[in-house]
Amino acid sequence: MRNKLFGSVRARMSGIYLLITVCALLFIGQMVSNLMEDFLVSQRTQTQSQETARLALEIGPELMGNSAENIYAYVQERAYSMGGRVLVLDMDGVVQVDSASQHNGYRLPYREVRDVLIDGAETSYAFHYVQREDESGGLLTWNERSIWTVYYTAPITVDGTYVGAVLYCASIQDVVDSINDVNRQTTMIFLIMMITIVILTFLLSGWLTKPIVDLTAAIRRMGTQGYGVRVKVSGGGEIAELGKAFNRMSERIEDHDRVRDEFIANASHELKTPLATMKLLSETILYQDDPDPAMMKEFFNDVNHEIDRLSRIVTELLRLVQEDAGAQALTMEPLRLDMLTERVCKRLRSLAEDKHIALSCELQPVTILADEMRMEQVVINLVENGLKYTDAGSVKVRVYSENDEAVFQVTDTGIGIPEEALGHLFERFYRVDKARSRGTGGTGLGLSIVEKIVALHNGYIQVASKLGKGSTFTVRLPIKGGDQ
Ligand code: ADP
Repeated sequence: MRNKLFGSVRARMSGIYLLITVCALLFIGQMVSNLMEDFLVSQRTQTQSQETARLALEIGPELMGNSAENIYAYVQERAYSMGGRVLVLDMDGVVQVDSASQHNGYRLPYREVRDVLIDGAETSYAFHYVQREDESGGLLTWNERSIWTVYYTAPITVDGTYVGAVLYCASIQDVVDSINDVNRQTTMIFLIMMITIVILTFLLSGWLTKPIVDLTAAIRRMGTQGYGVRVKVSGGGEIAELGKAFNRMSERIEDHDRVRDEFIANASHELKTPLATMKLLSETILYQDDPDPAMMKEFFNDVNHEIDRLSRIVTELLRLVQEDAGAQALTMEPLRLDMLTERVCKRLRSLAEDKHIALSCELQPVTILADEMRMEQVVINLVENGLKYTDAGSVKVRVYSENDEAVFQVTDTGIGIPEEALGHLFERFYRVDKARSRGTGGTGLGLSIVEKIVALHNGYIQVASKLGKGSTFTVRLPIKGGDQ
C-alpha cells in the first residue's frame, strides 16, 4: 500500500517529466540531423552540378574534329582531375566514351539522363547506392565496399545544337559517412543525457515527493497510534503548508481528545461521589436490625439530597451537550435583556433575603437578538453564583449599553476568586473550593454552560475578582441593529 502511493506519485511525476524530455530531445536531434544532412548534401551536389555543367560546356568543342583516342584521353584526364568517372552519351543515352572503358555502347536508362536529353533540363542529378558486386548496373565501383554515389548530367551542345550529354558520377560516401558519424555521436550524447536525466529524475522526484510520502505515513500512523503524530515541516511552498495544516489538525484533534477524556473522567467522578454516598447511607440502614425512625428520616433526607445532586448534574450535563451541538438549535429573537434580568432578579430576591444579601438591579432598556431560554440561563447562573459565593454584603446586577454592545454585569462582595483560578473558571467541573461548591449544590458546570451560550450569541464574558473582596462577571453581547 505504501509503495503503491509512493510509486504512483513519484512514478507519475518522473514519467511525465521523462516523456517530455525524451520528446524534446528526439525532436531536437532529428532537426539537427536533418538540417546538417541538407546542408552538407546540397553544398556538395551544387558544386558538382556546376562542375558537370562546365565540363559539358567544355567538352562540346573537344568532340569536334578530334580523334577518338584524343577524346578518350581528354575525358579520362577530366575524370581523373574531378575525382570520379565521366561518360559521354549520345542523344539516345548510349555511352560513347567512358573514362573507365566499361560501358561503351550501353544505353543508360537513368532518369537524370532523360531529364537533360528529353526534357531539356540544364543539369540533373540522382543518388545511387552502388553495390560492390553490382558490376552490371552501377557506374562506379569502389574496391572496398558499397557506396553512395551521385550521377550528374548536363547536355552537350555544339553550335547551339544538342549532341548528347555528359554524365559525371562521383562518390558522396564521405558526406554520408560524416552524417552517420555525427548521428552516431548525437545518439551517444542522447543516450548519456537520457541516463543522466533518468537518474536525476529518480533522485529529484524522491526529494520532491518525500514530504508527501512522510505526510501519508504520518496520517497512516495517526490511524494506528493515535493523534500524537506530527510531521517535520521544512522549507516553504504548498507541501510545507500541507504539513503545517496537518500538524495543526493533529494538535486540535489531540486537544479535543484530551478534553473529552478529561470530561468523561470528571463526569464519572462527579456521578460516582453521590452514588457512593447513597450506597453508604443505604447500607448503614440495611445492616441495622432495628433502626431508629428519627435516624432513618435523617438518612433518607441525606439520600434525597444526593439524588437531587445527581439529577442536577445529569440535567446540566445534558444541557452542556445540547450547547455543544451548536448554533442551529438556537431560536434567535429580539429580546429585552433588562426585562429578562428583572424577572430573574424578582425570582431570586427571596434567596437573597434568606442570606441577608442586598440584591440590587440597575437596568437600562437594551434589546439584543437572543434565544430567550438560554439567555435566561446565563442571567440566572451568574446572579445565583453571586449570591452563592457571597456570605454578606451585596450583589449588584446591571444592564446597560456601551459602544454598540449590551452589557450584563453582576458584581458581588463575596469570597472572590484567587488569581490562579481565573483561567480555569470556565472549564467543565472546575471549582475553586470543591467542598464549598458541593455544599451549595454546585456542579462546576454552570460557568462552562454560560460561556458556551454567550459564545453562541457572538458575545464574550470577562471576570474581575479580588480574593476576599468580591467578583465582577461582565457579559458583552452585540446589540440588535440600531434598536435600543
Ligand atoms: P458551581 O456549580 O460550582 O457554582 P460554576 O461553573 O458556576 O460551578 O462555577 C465554577 C466555580 O467558580 C465555582 O465552584 C466557584 O469556585 C467559582 N465561582 C463562580 N462564581 C463565583 C463568584 N461569584 N464568586 C466567587 N467564586 C465564584
